[in-house]
Amino acid sequence: MTFKALLVDKDEDGKTHASVQEIEENRLPDGNVTVAVDYSTLNYKDGLCIGPGGGLVKTYPHVPGIDLAGTVEESSDDWYKPGDKVVLTGWRVGEIWWGGYAQKACVKGEWLVPLPDGLTTRNAMAVGTAGFTAMLAVMALEDHGLKPESGPVLVTGAAGGVGSVATAILANLGYEVAAVTGRESTWDYLKALGASTIVPRDDVNETVKRPLEAETWAGCIDAVGGPMLARVLGQMKYGASVAAVGLAGGASLPATVVPFLLRGVNLLGIDSVMRPYDGRIRAWERIAKDLPMDKLEDMIQPATLSDLPELGAQILKGGVKGRVVVDVN
Ligand code: NDP
Repeated sequence: MTFKALLVDKDEDGKTHASVQEIEENRLPDGNVTVAVDYSTLNYKDGLCIGPGGGLVKTYPHVPGIDLAGTVEESSDDWYKPGDKVVLTGWRVGEIWWGGYAQKACVKGEWLVPLPDGLTTRNAMAVGTAGFTAMLAVMALEDHGLKPESGPVLVTGAAGGVGSVATAILANLGYEVAAVTGRESTWDYLKALGASTIVPRDDVNETVKRPLEAETWAGCIDAVGGPMLARVLGQMKYGASVAAVGLAGGASLPATVVPFLLRGVNLLGIDSVMRPYDGRIRAWERIAKDLPMDKLEDMIQPATLSDLPELGAQILKGGVKGRVVVDVN
């Protein structure tokens, strides 16, 4: 018995090569739930795992895909039985464990969540890790007091996966959203998702010159990090919070502590990978309730396994708009 997968191998020179191959089922890792995968998706991390590895993949040959949605085929886990629809994000699947770029995955039951009511496997993967993390960021800002009447919320890397979903959720909840993008071609798309203001990337990408600027943003979801995050910290309103999600613009934080000390600004770290089960369920329930499905549909770029090497390289250059949904079959 074989299944189709995107397999990445490494040659003697350390170069990686990804190709679609038929793989024997007995090569699947030793999990306790086998899932017939319907869809996977493409996140920034997938770009690394399909290509250079970024230190995330430990052994080759490897099947990437950090998230998947499908139907349980076999299970020795008490919580899941054949026929159950399930979703998986995180837990380093697709990095140190074979992931979702395959027609079959064998995983640990504790990593799965039931497909949330109101979602299909396709739109669960349109959300994927990027959208799930955007929801975690919204919830963290709310927990720290953000309300629609607090003022405008900045979303950085807005036309990417995290940014697109964050923009649509915040706008639907009644927030005024300012979307930072480096691509003029995405302005209409971001406005259609609900952004009321577009902030060109160059306006906030410069190194911090003054530790405090005008108090502008009531909250921020930041997918970019680096000099942009540092700059935004000095533009936050008194007591406001920034949810730090990503590092598309760099892992450094060339900031001063002044915004924390003089404005009581909070920097909230968001991790989706090791998030415990109850928090996952709460976030997926909120996604089903607060993310308009027509807006999600507008974000989707469909793809197949053989498109992934090209798309993986594109996402690392910041060239993918919205959410890529991969039909693995
Ligand atoms: P995408 O590539 O889809 O989005 C990133 C966006 O950032 C791009 O579309 C672009 O938006 C902007 N961008 C890219 N390069 C630069 C740059 N050099 N300077 C400024 N802006 C840039 O990736 P995802 O949305 O999937 O992920 C975003 C980040 O979040 C990644 O770093 C990822 O690793 C991280 N992440 C973290 C998670 C967690 O658990 N903490 C989970 C999921 C993702 P635009 O063109 O609009 O400017």
